[in-house]
Amino acid sequence: MSELTYPYEAPASQALFDRASVVTPGGVNSPVRAFRAVGGTPRFMVSGTGPYLTDADGREYVDLVCSWGPMILGHARPEVIAAVQEAVARGTSFGTPAEGEVALAEAMVERVAPLEQVRLVSSGTEATMSAIRLARGFTRRTKVIKFAGCYHGHVDSLLAAAGSGVATFALPDTPGVTGAQASDTIVLPYNDIDAVHAAFAAHPGEIACVITEASPGNMGVVPPLPGFNQGLKDACAAHGALFVSDEVMTGFRTSRAGWYGVEGVVPDLMTFGKVMGGGFPAAAFGGRADVMAHLAPAGPVYQAGTLSGNPVATAAGLAQLRLLDDAAYAKVNAVSEQIQGLVTEALNKEGVAHTVQTASNMFSVFFTDRPVTNYEEAKAQESFRFTAFFHSLLENGVYLPPSSFESWFVSTAHDERAVQRIADALPAAARAAAEATA
Ligand code: PLP
Repeated sequence: MSELTYPYEAPASQALFDRASVVTPGGVNSPVRAFRAVGGTPRFMVSGTGPYLTDADGREYVDLVCSWGPMILGHARPEVIAAVQEAVARGTSFGTPAEGEVALAEAMVERVAPLEQVRLVSSGTEATMSAIRLARGFTRRTKVIKFAGCYHGHVDSLLAAAGSGVATFALPDTPGVTGAQASDTIVLPYNDIDAVHAAFAAHPGEIACVITEASPGNMGVVPPLPGFNQGLKDACAAHGALFVSDEVMTGFRTSRAGWYGVEGVVPDLMTFGKVMGGGFPAAAFGGRADVMAHLAPAGPVYQAGTLSGNPVATAAGLAQLRLLDDAAYAKVNAVSEQIQGLVTEALNKEGVAHTVQTASNMFSVFFTDRPVTNYEEAKAQESFRFTAFFHSLLENGVYLPPSSFESWFVSTAHDERAVQRIADALPAAARAAAEATA
């Protein structure tokens, strides 16, 4: 990492971070928030409105993280807040079935054709963990294929060669995952269909499912090559395994029907989170009704949750989905393109080698001039340039994900004023990236 100094101070955030570090490991409740990949003081945010976040020191930022995806309508969208307030006033958790969870499930099923049934859970991790258990219970097989650089939450068996925070910290593995859990996971290079065919040939009758991010965003944005997802689907069908498409990040973001809506490949099971919760802990897994029928209480595969289908979370999610019409997606896509163009222009002006990769309105910037198709190529970028770029933007009021292995996210609330602020901050950031040294 280059020798960066941090001339701008964030005393209130630093004081909170110091307090947090006493009572919470590393001072944060999710590792990437700690800024370890980029250095400096993590910003403690106190409020969000539209495309802006305000930190404890009273500084305002244009937010290009959007809570890592969920806030596709921007922060504190009045209709979503009103739905939440109305739900909260009726009580915050019943531990019984309630109409809101039916309505949210119906809204999801209506949008995503392969989703015949869904089960609501509270986090994306829970969704992928449960989908894997169901796939194993349904097929009565043990092994799972995943791809290096794909992150599916912190499920024990899926942490091998995961992206996101695991990529950021370059953890080869994590202590606490047993050899038995890891040995049932086959990790293959992303976008390599021959490796998938070879794995099926090497483990006949043993592979329960292939799980993949529908379009990966946890090693930076690395979309599937044409035909890759269909190839996975076909290989699974040929070998009696299930194809599990993880749409926690892409679901209801990359289109009204998520990445499925972009590409049209039909999975057996899908997982969701982020956008469908409207900023609350709501997630889901679902798919083929004959597979979902194996889930308790209809079938023998156990899965449950005290707060599953929470009435406040489902009200927020439903309000958000109802506002996400074609015009909303057109707006998010347009503003995403606009920002991509500004980034490219600024970096080109300073002669900085880079590649902007996109998956609908998700995008990220790799500091390499070669297209990135897998995790190894993602890791080969000049991340030290990202660090300088990140800090310059932060200093000038633009909040990027604090890692070069994450997607950037925009919202319908990113208006001309917000985009202008990014445009104003980019020249200095591009210069900082150009001048950075390893
Ligand atoms: N799957 C994907 C594709 C994700 O991006 C994430 C989180 O970023 C998860 C699963 C895990 O979701 P959660 O953080 O809600 O547990």
